[in-house]
Amino acid sequence: MDSKTLVAAVAENETLMIDSLCSMLKIRAVGPENQGHGEGERAEYLLTLAKKLGFKSIELYESNDPRVPSGKRPNIVIRTRGTSSKNLFVVTHMDTVPEGDIKAWKYPPYEPIVIDGRVYGRGSEDNGQELIASLFGLKALLENGISPECNIGLVFVSDEEHGNTHGIDFLMEKGIFKKGDLAVVPDHGEGDGSAICVVEKSIAWINVEVIGRQTHASTPARGINALEVAARYMISVIDELRKRFSEEDPLFDVPISTFSPTKCDANGPNINTIPGRQQFAFDFRILPNYKVDDVLAVMKKTAGTFEREHGVKIDLSFVQRADAAPKTPINSEIVERLIDAITKVRGIKPHPLGIGGGTCAAPFRRIGIEAAVWSTIPGVAHDANEYANVKDIVADAQVYALLFAGKNVERA
Ligand SMILES: [Zn+2]
Repeated sequence: MDSKTLVAAVAENETLMIDSLCSMLKIRAVGPENQGHGEGERAEYLLTLAKKLGFKSIELYESNDPRVPSGKRPNIVIRTRGTSSKNLFVVTHMDTVPEGDIKAWKYPPYEPIVIDGRVYGRGSEDNGQELIASLFGLKALLENGISPECNIGLVFVSDEEHGNTHGIDFLMEKGIFKKGDLAVVPDHGEGDGSAICVVEKSIAWINVEVIGRQTHASTPARGINALEVAARYMISVIDELRKRFSEEDPLFDVPISTFSPTKCDANGPNINTIPGRQQFAFDFRILPNYKVDDVLAVMKKTAGTFEREHGVKIDLSFVQRADAAPKTPINSEIVERLIDAITKVRGIKPHPLGIGGGTCAAPFRRIGIEAAVWSTIPGVAHDANEYANVKDIVADAQVYALLFAGKNVERA
């Protein structure tokens, strides 16, 4: 067989693929943090589907969570043995965010519908499309008697939308993934399927509290204006950080580290008081060649100077801190395999990319797994009227089929 024949075989399953996606999306799978019942029922459906499609090795790993009715958060691993000893995982998630404002939906979020080549429904893009595409990519190999080149593990996890405790982290503790494995985490992508994300920036959300002394606005000298000091400190810090951490990395779509003041808390209802307390927050996205601690050290030093000069107290605290994981080299095996498969299906030359947001590939890279983030998506995750393009679902399934088959496609 050649790759063209395998790609065509995947397309023959289009109707079944879309029907399966729609059946899955009908089952709400929202985590307990958002008052949902978890992924239990959706996992049941997928276990049945995988059996029906002919998969033999289907494992279920359940993490205890008393907040959901079943008390369990399911994780599914579907394995197919390859002709080499290398393991390749595709990790997708079953859970979704809630529907949000129901009035904003043109089509009901849990009654998936196909219109003009799009599947509408909550969880269609995020992450249903890739879950189904990876499943049908592997099914095409089974149907055509092709052994995958690597041992393939399709992993459907819970709890991706809220911290990964009962999903990826739980499976890591169980030892499912090992150093030297390869992973695709289709958690991010571009509309034409050309971006393969190999690295993220560090993320730091830092809360700043300035404590001065409150007084009447007609006699400001009797107090210490926390808002004014906060404003001066804010500008001073970002000027300093942008100067010190100014390197560029063209791999990233935003090639510099960004230091942005974002949230500012209200300090009181009236205008005629000198505020004695002011809180605001920074959102920093830092290139991985810089250490978050070094950034923090600059903030602390500047805070010390302000405390001495203005008689205030400045407290800094992390609201979120995610230090960048090691990068997957752009010439790594997983990136090269993906580039080859995408090029064959789409006729384009994909490019490696760094992004400013966190992805679920980071925990894999931290334990020495080459992980790449790739998918072909319209970018409407979490939106009302979320959808996935039918042609992308099919094409991504074709990419998975070629990725799994590797050179074995020629031997079949
Ligand atoms: Zn999401």
